[in-house]
Amino acid sequence: LASRTFHPEPTIVKIGDTEIGGEEFVIMAGPCAVENKEQLFETAEIVKKCGAKVLRGGAFKPRTSPYSFQGLGEEGLKILAEARERTGLAVVTEVVSPEDVSKVAQYADILQIGARNMQNFELLKAAGRSGKPVLLKRGMASTIEEWLNAAEYVMNEGNFQVILCERGIRTFEQKTRNTLDLSAVAVIKHLSHLPVIVDPSHSTGNWRWVAPMSRAALAAGADGLIIEVHPDPERALSDGPQSLKPEKFAELCEDLRKIAPIV
Ligand code: PEP
Ligand code: MN
Repeated sequence: LASRTFHPEPTIVKIGDTEIGGEEFVIMAGPCAVENKEQLFETAEIVKKCGAKVLRGGAFKPRTSPYSFQGLGEEGLKILAEARERTGLAVVTEVVSPEDVSKVAQYADILQIGARNMQNFELLKAAGRSGKPVLLKRGMASTIEEWLNAAEYVMNEGNFQVILCERGIRTFEQKTRNTLDLSAVAVIKHLSHLPVIVDPSHSTGNWRWVAPMSRAALAAGADGLIIEVHPDPERALSDGPQSLKPEKFAELCEDLRKIAPIV
């Protein structure tokens, strides 16, 4: 179902007035995790002003360590929904278990399936049945074939609104958190009709590399970006080192607009 052979025309995922996979280059941005109202509302205003169309923010966090901040859960979802009311931005947030899908779907415009859950088949099926657009991140040790098969699980439930997200894969390299596989963007565009976006934050793990990799993603033909932005990265409860400060994010958005007026 995800193959271009089956469906030659590009799929456009529509979220309100925003089209992902069409002419636009869509920027999704926000903090790694929803921490409190003040932090999320402040970030939402900033990213909206810079031209982002979608607000990201995790309420259920799949943290590597059980002792790290696990997210605010449903309270975080409510804060996200309130930020949407205030700004008009669409909301993307992660769902980590099949039992939570209907709850998260009540609040979110796009359900995010994280890298660690790319092959959680029951979660993929539940997200497919939700009828909500799904942002499917590539597993950190998954091949493109496995990733497309994961998309197939969602689509097999009758849900064709799938956005793929390249977020870096594990390699021997230690200077970056993961290795951004930009070639995956070109390969996916050839193999599939689904939109593909790039996450320069998790793929690099360092705010310094976020702007250059964002520009590269645009040049490579990605349909958009999902970027972590935090008003005070030093104090962030998760992924501070890779989060852009508001000024840096504003600069990046301006740069992208210079490269392509579609941003
Ligand atoms: C995230 O987007 O905050 C996240 C946990 O991403 P990934 O699943 O790509 O690690
Ligand atoms: Mn994160």
